[in-house]
Amino acid sequence: MEDSTIISKGKVTAIVGNLVQAVADGPLIQNGICYFVHGDKQIMGEVIKTAGNIAYAQVFETTARFRSGMEVIFTGSMLEVNLGPGMLTRNYDGLQNDLDKMDGVFLQPGVRTFPLDQESSWDFTPLSKKGDTVKAGDWLGEVPEYHIQHKIMVPFKLEGEYELDWVAETGEYKLTDTIAKLKNGNGEKIEVNMVQTWPVKVPIKAYKEKLRPGKLFETGVRVIDTMNPIMEGGTGFIPGPFGSGKTVLQHGLAKQAAADVVIVAACGERANEVVEIFTEFPHLDDPRTGKKLVERTVIIANTSNMPVAAREASVYTAMTIAEYYRSMGLRTLLLADSTSRWAQALREMSNRMEELPGPDAFPMDLSAIIASYYSRAGFTIQENGESGSITFIGTVSPAGGNLLEPVTESTKKVARCFFALSQNRADSKRYPAIDPIDSYSKYLEYDEYIQFAKETIGEDWIDKIDFVKNFMIGGQEISEQINILGDDGVPVDYHETFWKAELIDFSILQQDAFDDIDSNTPLDRQRYMLDKVIKVVKTDFGFDDFNKVRDFFKKVINLFKQMNYSEFNSDKFKSYERELEEITNLKTVES
Ligand code: ADP
Repeated sequence: MEDSTIISKGKVTAIVGNLVQAVADGPLIQNGICYFVHGDKQIMGEVIKTAGNIAYAQVFETTARFRSGMEVIFTGSMLEVNLGPGMLTRNYDGLQNDLDKMDGVFLQPGVRTFPLDQESSWDFTPLSKKGDTVKAGDWLGEVPEYHIQHKIMVPFKLEGEYELDWVAETGEYKLTDTIAKLKNGNGEKIEVNMVQTWPVKVPIKAYKEKLRPGKLFETGVRVIDTMNPIMEGGTGFIPGPFGSGKTVLQHGLAKQAAADVVIVAACGERANEVVEIFTEFPHLDDPRTGKKLVERTVIIANTSNMPVAAREASVYTAMTIAEYYRSMGLRTLLLADSTSRWAQALREMSNRMEELPGPDAFPMDLSAIIASYYSRAGFTIQENGESGSITFIGTVSPAGGNLLEPVTESTKKVARCFFALSQNRADSKRYPAIDPIDSYSKYLEYDEYIQFAKETIGEDWIDKIDFVKNFMIGGQEISEQINILGDDGVPVDYHETFWKAELIDFSILQQDAFDDIDSNTPLDRQRYMLDKVIKVVKTDFGFDDFNKVRDFFKKVINLFKQMNYSEFNSDKFKSYERELEEITNLKTVES
């Protein structure tokens, strides 16, 4: 058991799956951690509801051997994580057990491992000096952790201002060595080392302000950056039927997005999928650092055969770790897959407690729970003026692809971007299968982004995006009419519109995640290509026969694709570009 104060003891009175009811002989706190004593093991649980002296606790491990009358110890602490250098590259479960130190991905009852390395030394450099006034979240010093400078901060739990009485000089220190002494107004001294703890369900608010996101978070994925942009500190979600390319997209985001640290919460996955993540991730190259992607990644995983409570813990643990790195002035990307399985866990517990059910038997407050989780993402300014961010992208896996179910609906209300992976597009191998019409980014309407886009991308960038989006909608309508009336049943210019929409689809929306060049398109290249495509789309070629339209655009599309596969501005790229100009000009002159 962790050092936490025991506030009461009690006896188990009922067991319903992972929900255990107990009677306490003293006070109880909401979300307090408790331990069920089983032989020489202590199995952890969390009090999720109290009624007088009755506690309802969700247990993070199997309750198979639980019996009525079993002893339980209630603590005054909530579920906490240990935060400090050495988390990058690690694979944790929802309770921050180091999965690599455990026996496979299956929790052994009552076994807990310390999540950080207590033996290794860190190369500390002070960033504050004696006499400085400091408060929670201020940077006392830093240690290199792979490619980042990991800040050692004033513990988030400390309230008010302190005087820095002593800070360690540059040198090697272990996690638990004292690196600073703080003095409060009463002259009391507090020793600080490189590890601090924080309750996962409470947002870390050690920042000066949270701003509305408005700065593009580049992902290198054209259909996101150009068409449905997500902001640094923004939120988005991906619903995806099986096989629609969700995994490929998430890997792409983890690899390419402009993040210093990537936190992956694999929530309620099947065990083999989790094993897949662990075996695949270490091999992914990091195009940003030239090293391995794992070096800027923390994975929080739990499998569907673990008790549902562990799922809940994992999403909160992941968010807390992201907040910790954000406080260091870093850009973090949090990917959670799948938030639906988390919601299912909430539903199971709610049903076991026989609460009044909301739609589809989810808890009544599902929307509020999802909203408050999403609201922990964001773009923050630290006290010292540095900015940090958590960009959050969750996936939902609605049963039968029904986007009207409560989890998707609740998520839609709070996430600002929607990347709709569509079965139809996946079936026709139009990858990434993000539907151009159903998907959206509400940031396109944010003044902050409009301003940003004007200044850094182009004066009329947003107008161009509007134009392309509307063109796709028109193209879709015309495609339906051609399908109904037949090729001969519509005017030739319908065909031209149809093929222009295809050109946008093939050259901007579709992107080969397995090609070194095409997989990752920097923003300046996205702008260049979009301008080129729009130029063709806005040209009236005046064809007289739909067969000619098709032949012409097939050539044009092919040249655009060749350009996408060539290094930007290389000789090869330029020769395709010249060819493109020739055939488009030629055709313009002819007509
Ligand atoms: P999901 O995780 O949704 O079940 P995957 O991400 O495994 O689906 O994708 C299924 C298959 O789709 C992949 O194996 C790959 O062949 C193809 N695919 C998905 N996205 C792309 C892409 N951007 N480029 C090329 N192929 C893709």
